[in-house]
Amino acid sequence: MYERILLPTDGSEGTEHAVDHAIALAKQFGAALDVLHVTDAPVLPLDAHSQALLDAIEEEGRSAVEEIVERASRRGVGTVAGVVREGEPYRTILDYVDEEDVDLVVMGTHGRTGLDRYLLGSVTERVARLSDVPVVIVPRPDEAAEE
Ligand code: ATP
Ligand code: MN
Repeated sequence: MYERILLPTDGSEGTEHAVDHAIALAKQFGAALDVLHVTDAPVLPLDAHSQALLDAIEEEGRSAVEEIVERASRRGVGTVAGVVREGEPYRTILDYVDEEDVDLVVMGTHGRTGLDRYLLGSVTERVARLSDVPVVIVPRPDEAAEE
């Protein structure tokens, strides 16, 4: 049913709960798992200080991806790839789905910044609305318990 599953991550606690679901689904279906982090491209040219900050943020994203890739391999997912791309996160995720023939996306309701503002973070909302493939949206446990 599913051969290629995409887990987009911003490296946050909000995404953490989606990781277990993505790994379990990949194992269940014998699917490949792609872990994708998108760094926002700066619109303006940066001074050295801002560039250093941006590099540090990018490095954080990269290590979040690597950590999840390692965990998935350890838990027995056969094919795991870690990818970092630059761009607008929701657009880059949707393009990745098209280009790489992903057939299921697994992501969190919330990520780094939006916690209690809305029902869904803006990246998840747009991906869920615009994706051609099913999107599994995983809440934080306490979020689910509030129902
Ligand atoms: P907002 O960004 O709208 O302020 P938020 O940060 O709480 O709110 P989202 O950004 O939509 O919520 O995050 C929800 C999910 O979207 C995350 O769990 C993750 O799966 C995905 N996501 C968000 N940002 C990125 C990113 N830069 N790269 C990859 N995946 C991302
Ligand atoms: Mn966000």
